[in-house]
Formats: sequence, structure tokens, C-alpha cells
Amino acid sequence: MFMYEMPTRLYFGKNCIAQSGAALQQLGKKALLVTGRHSAKINGSQQALADTLDRLGISWIVFDEVENNPSIATVRKAAALGREQQVDFVIGIGGGSPMDAAKVIALLCTNEMDDVVLFTGPYSKPLPIVTVPTTSGTGSEVTKVGVLTNPHAGTKQSVNTPLIFPVLSFADPSFTMSVSETVTVDTAVDALSHAVEGYMSRKSTPVSDVWAEEALRFLGMHLTELRGELSYAVREDLMYGSTLAGIVIAQTGTTLVHGMGYQLTYYKGLAHGRANGLLLPRYMELMEASMSDKAEKVWEILGLSGWRDLASFIKDIMPDSVDLTASEIDSYVALTMPARAVQNTSYDITPEVVASLYRHLKTK
Ligand code: ZN
Repeated sequence: MFMYEMPTRLYFGKNCIAQSGAALQQLGKKALLVTGRHSAKINGSQQALADTLDRLGISWIVFDEVENNPSIATVRKAAALGREQQVDFVIGIGGGSPMDAAKVIALLCTNEMDDVVLFTGPYSKPLPIVTVPTTSGTGSEVTKVGVLTNPHAGTKQSVNTPLIFPVLSFADPSFTMSVSETVTVDTAVDALSHAVEGYMSRKSTPVSDVWAEEALRFLGMHLTELRGELSYAVREDLMYGSTLAGIVIAQTGTTLVHGMGYQLTYYKGLAHGRANGLLLPRYMELMEASMSDKAEKVWEILGLSGWRDLASFIKDIMPDSVDLTASEIDSYVALTMPARAVQNTSYDITPEVVASLYRHLKTK
């Protein structure tokens, strides 16, 4: 048997907020907009929401202090503001960080929790959550996960509950037109990683596989043209692919690549998508051994001949080398092994397998 759950109502396309924003009216009279410091003001997303909220007579306030890989302190600060201002719903605008933060903020507006219960639950119903992606990568606009930096655990950790599926999502690719080349590459590779890992996950289902193959198709056709100026049509395909990949991981979770990548972000400062990209080729070497049919299908859709071909493509767009000491590897392995993502991986993951993948990062 399998279960398919995708409760988020998704509006996709240019000007979707202006066209369909009236759906926000059912959520209440006052909104908390959650953003990073700058990009929502530059790419037009905050203005598009402000115009629509004003037109609908919904009042709003902004919390614009979400940093990359948001901290517990930041989401607590925003939730205190939301409670004090008695907001009815929360809108996360941005890449993964503001959207993930918005989900946890909505949960903290209705739940008194210490830093342990925050990651385990139980939870009562959060305020309604709305997402507006402004990068094409995270898929957070359609998932039930909010990833935070957790200093108590010494890594990134996720709040994971169907209660934080967004109620509404407005995905307008025009907000991604101003995304820099580096972020475009990092986020596209993150989306690719979601589609691949979701396809390979032990929790993949016939329905999630349909979306995963479609996501690979839309992302795959543009992988060699992520640099320089991108047309709206390409930006639209990338956002469509990344949103589909988000629908996939909402069903399947992520796997070893994400489980290991969190350590590279937390301790080495690597961007999330870059950390995943560097780990992806050797992960696919494992998948070629354990899931050869599906691995073959991935190569067919992407037009690649195998994991070595993927490795040279990644080396071209992400020429990073990560040289880890033996003791760093030991501690990252210890942090990785208990992760849910490891259990989702279709391979017998031992500490030695994880260590060997970390060691291979140096030779890139
Ligand atoms: Zn990711």
C-alpha cells in the first residue's frame, strides 16, 4: 500500500498573486510576512503581496530578519511578534530559509514548546501558512518540513509534521528573474537532488515516481544552461521542476545526500544545494549498485551515461573541493548515522560508507 498526501493548494504562473490572491481572504484579517533581509524587496514578491493584501483589506506586518539556515532564536523572535500583534496567518516569502522559518513560526504562534519538543512534537494546529518561493530549489513551498539550525544538536535539524503543510502557495517564476548565477546553480542542483533522492528513497511510491520523473525532465533539459542570463521560459521550467521535486520529497523524505550535506553546511559553510551537489555523484554510484533500474532511468532522462558523467558535470559547475580531517569525518559520520534521511536510503548505509563518501569530496 502507499499514501499520497498533498494538501497545499498551489497557484503557479506569472502574476498568480494578483490573479488569485483573493484566496487569502479566507485566512483572516492580519498577516505576518516572513522574509530575509533584502531579496523579497528587490525581486517584487513583497510588493506583489502588499498590493494584494491592501486591496483585500488584510492588514500586514513584516519580519525581515530571517538569515540563511535560520536559528531557533530567530523563529522564536518572529513568533513573539506574531503573538503580540495577534496575526491570523503567516506568509513565508523567499528561498528555503524564510519559508521554513515561516512554518515553524506559525507553529510557535499556537504552541508553547521548549527547544526539544520543537523538533519532536506533539504539536497542536499552527496558524495557516502561505508560501511564496523566490528561488527554484528548495521545494519548501509544498512540503511539511521546516529545517532549522539547532546548536543543541550541533547540526541542521527538521521540524517535520503534516500540520505545517502550507495551506496556499503562490509560485510565480518572475520573482526568480534576478537570482544570481551562483544561487541559480546551487538551487537547481538542490532541486535535482530532491528529484533523484525522492525517486531512490525507500519511501518512494508509484505516484511520487511520476512527479520525480517529470521533475527530472524539466530540470534536466536546462542543467547545461544555468549560467548567464536566463529567459523567463527557462526560469519557469526550473521553478516547475523544483516545485514538483518538492511534492516528491513531501511524500518520500530526502536520503543520504541531504543527511550528510547538513554537516557540510553547518560546519563548513557550504550552501545547501552545493553541499548536496558535491555528494550526489558518489551517492549515485551506490544507487547504481542497489537500484540499477531506477538509476538507469535517471541517466536516460538526464541524458547522462552514469555517475562518472554526473561527477564531471558537477565538477564543471561546482569546482569546490572539501578537504576534511579524519576527526572531522568521524564526527560528521556520528551526526549523519541517526538521521531519518539515512533510513530512507536504499542501501546498507554503514559508518564506513558515509566516511568514504566524505573522503571522496577532496578529490573533486
Ligand atoms: Zn534540499
